[in-house]
This record gives sequence, C-alpha cells and structure tokens, in this order.
Amino acid sequence: MNVVDYLRISLIDRCNFRCQYCMPEGAELDYILQQNLLSYNELLTLIREVFMPVGFSRFRLTGGEPLIRPGIVDLVRAIASTPGVRDLAITTNGFLLAPIAAELYDAGLRRINISLDSLNPDTFDLLAGTKGRSRWQRVWDGIVEAHRVGFDPLKLNVVVIPGVNDSEILDLASLTIDRNWHVRFIEFMPIGNNELFGDMGWVPSAELRQRIRDRWGLEESRVTGNGPADVFQIPGALGTLGFISQMSECFCDRCNRMRLSADGWLRPCLLNETGQIDLKTALRNGVAPESLQEKVRSLLAIKPEINFKERDSGTLVGNYSRTMSQIGG
Ligand code: SAM
Ligand code: SF4
Repeated sequence: MNVVDYLRISLIDRCNFRCQYCMPEGAELDYILQQNLLSYNELLTLIREVFMPVGFSRFRLTGGEPLIRPGIVDLVRAIASTPGVRDLAITTNGFLLAPIAAELYDAGLRRINISLDSLNPDTFDLLAGTKGRSRWQRVWDGIVEAHRVGFDPLKLNVVVIPGVNDSEILDLASLTIDRNWHVRFIEFMPIGNNELFGDMGWVPSAELRQRIRDRWGLEESRVTGNGPADVFQIPGALGTLGFISQMSECFCDRCNRMRLSADGWLRPCLLNETGQIDLKTALRNGVAPESLQEKVRSLLAIKPEINFKERDSGTLVGNYSRTMSQIGG
C-alpha cells in the first residue's frame, strides 16, 4: 500500500491571473474571507503537531497563487527549518517570482514548479486571462532567475489545451535539451471551467509522447520522481519530460498525497471530498493536537477506497466545479 506522506497546502484561493481553464474572468467564485484563512501560526501548528506526528514529511505550498500571500518567505523559512521536514516545494505562476527567488532559496526552498503554458506571449496572455497586459516576459524572467539562484529541480507545468497551445508541444519540450529543466505536460481536467473543457476536450499524453518521439526519439528517464508524472527524456537531453495523465490513466493506486485548503479543510483527493475534515474550526475550538491526529489517521485509513474518477456531487457547483485554485492545485 502507498505511504501517504505528502501534503499540498493551499495558502490562498485568490490569484493575480485568470487562467481560462482555472478561474476565468467572470467566473463567480466565493473567495475565502481573510479571517477564515489559516494563519501562518495555525498552519505551522498543524504541520508540526498534527501532520508530522502522523507521518507527513513532505509539503508543497500552492494556491491560488501562493506568492500573493504576504510573509511567504518567513513561512518558507519556518517550515524548511522544522526538524523532520524532508521536502518543501512551491507551485507558482511565476509572475511575482523574480524579485524574491533568491530570498526563497535562502529561506530553504529548493524545489519549484512554475506554470508556463506557452512560449508565445500572445497565447500566454490569452490562456492566463491577461490579454493586453503582457505577462509572459515577467514569468519568463522569474523562471530564469529561479534557475540562476539554483532551484533544482526546476519544473515547468504545461496544461495542454487542444487548439490553443498543443501546437507548441515540441517547442516546450525542446527547453529540456540543453537545460536541466523538467517540463511536465498535464492533461486538462474537467475541474474549474467545465464549459471550456466541454468545447476543447483534452489531449492524451500518449499522443503528445508520440509527437515528441517522432521528432527526437524518447526514452524512459533515469530520474523517475515519486509523483504522478511518467518521466521520459529526449535522448541526450539535460532535463526531462513528465506526463501527468490523470484523464487517460488512473493513478489513484499510487497516490501519496492529501490536500489542505486555505481555510483549513483537509481533503483526501483532488476531486473527491469524502470524509474531509475541518481542521481550522477544530483548532480554533481548542481541540487538542492529539485528537486532530486521530481524525487525520481515520481519513488516512479510508483514503485507499477514495477514487478520483468517482468525483462527488459536492465538488460541482453549476457549470463550475470547485476550481484548482479553491482546492489547492
Ligand atoms: N497559481 C499557481 C500556478 O498556476 O502554478 C499554483 C496553483 S495552480 C491551481 C496549480 C496547477 O494546477 C497549475 O499548474 C495549473 O496549470 C493547474 N491546473 C489548474 N486548473 C487545471 C485544470 N482544469 N486541469 C489541469 N490542470 C489545471
Ligand atoms: Fe491562478 Fe494558477 Fe489558477 Fe492560473 S492556474 S488562475 S495562475 S491559480
């Protein structure tokens, strides 16, 4: 059975982008009120006194956009310096990254995933919902700066939308040839903007791999990682290509993670909230960490039966499901 030792922590459900596939302009999202966000002290208490004692040792900060939450460098320092934390990573859209990349590194962060859906600034803005605001260059600068200060691995996440950015697969894959970067192609999921999903559908990873194989050849990578990606490599390339195929291949049996929302709900699966626990309210009501550990253990015990494909209706709200930004992508 899989060891579940990895927690994805959403710091905030808000974002400075409006990616069409996630939280498009005009989507009516109920944002979490400031007073309902877990404070950093509450978060550290949960990490140190609840999650670590039950076996979690690897953490990822995400959102929404984690870099818009003030004080992130101090939070990173506090988590990274906690004895027993084996791994701390962040997922960001990169827009605010360049000026603080070095500070984050010095605070103990080593692993970073940056979303980059296109190398074409116009397509990028179209997808990010930032048309007319030219956001690509700053994101690219953030990636280059993260590389310069030494983040390793440095991963680039690409959500592949048919007819929008799938024509750039080879260009994006070629970034790994002479850089030690890891480009990961993610199958577009019916979460967030279901309308866009309905129109566009998704491209199976196998098809992307074939396109890359036809161009350069493709071999399984020596670096496999322990996440959901199947990792390959262009022969001789410095970096790798990951394929996250949650639509075409169910990888629930190798799932090693749970998710904590910015308002303190612990859920066992991205699309299935069976058994979720309101840790923030319990903590604020003075429930002892030992009792919270028991609750988390109970959820861990039922996790193997919980399946991504059997999404529950609680996750759907009209045409929009809870977005990745709300759950903690
Ligand atoms: N704002 C940060 C970012 O964009 O990297 C972190 C949060 S974002 C929700 C985390 C990841 O989820 C991003 O790589 C994003 O592309 C991905 N994502 C969002 N909606 C998705 C969807 N419907 N299908 C597949 N991936 C999605
Ligand atoms: Fe923001 Fe990330 Fe969602 Fe894009 S994918 S809207 S950057 S949270």
